[in-house]
Order: sequence, then C-alpha cells, then structure tokens
Amino acid sequence: MISAIAQLTNFKAAQGPPLDFVVFMVCWIILGIASFLFFQLNRNAALKRRIWPPFIIIIGFIFGLFVWQMSGGRREVLLFMIPAIVIISLLNIRLTRFCQSCGRTLQAQPFSSAGSFCKYCGAKLE
Ligand SMILES: [Zn+2]
Repeated sequence: MISAIAQLTNFKAAQGPPLDFVVFMVCWIILGIASFLFFQLNRNAALKRRIWPPFIIIIGFIFGLFVWQMSGGRREVLLFMIPAIVIISLLNIRLTRFCQSCGRTLQAQPFSSAGSFCKYCGAKLE
C-alpha cells in the first residue's frame, strides 16, 4: 500500500514541473499583480519615482537568479543573461515616467518621441 502511494506520488512528481519552478512562478505572479496594482493605483509620483529603479533592479536580480538556478547553475548562461537583464532593466527604468501633476504611471514606447506630455492630464513630463 505504502509503496503504491510512493509510486503514485513519484509518478505525479515526474509528470509535473519541478517544485522550485512552481514556487517561483507563484511568487512571480503574486509579485507581478502586487506591483502592477501599486504602480497603477498609487498616485504619489514622488514615491513611485523613488521606488521604481531599485524595484526594477531587484526584480531583474531575482529573475536572473531563477534562470541561473533552473539552468543548473551554468556559468555560460550568465554571459548572455546578465547583459540582457541589464538592458531590459535600463529600458524599463528609462521608459517609465510618473506624472507629477496627476501621479499616474506612464509607459513610453521605446522608439516614439511622443511622450513628453501626460496622456491622462496633458501635463508636461519632467
Ligand atoms: Zn498626468
């Protein structure tokens, strides 16, 4: 009986994704929803401006650590992953603005010049 259960659980574990992957995905989704709600609903531009860069850097670090862990700790993975994460993080920091007038979060398009005015209230962005 016990061996049958063990076999069954082993079978299930072999079928599903690895546990650390599932734990990471759950945390990642919760973090994603929480940060989305915070940056979309909070209207304190000064606070968001202060939190955004370290937040993006921490997120990039966590993501990089996870991918590295999933790869089995291979060094060559870091070679292309670190520059990719740095570029994405810098773009994320640069392209996200916070309107000082209405406090909303604005995502500018990477290759668009339109973005010096708030699309919600029309105020000029710093
Ligand atoms: Zn605005």
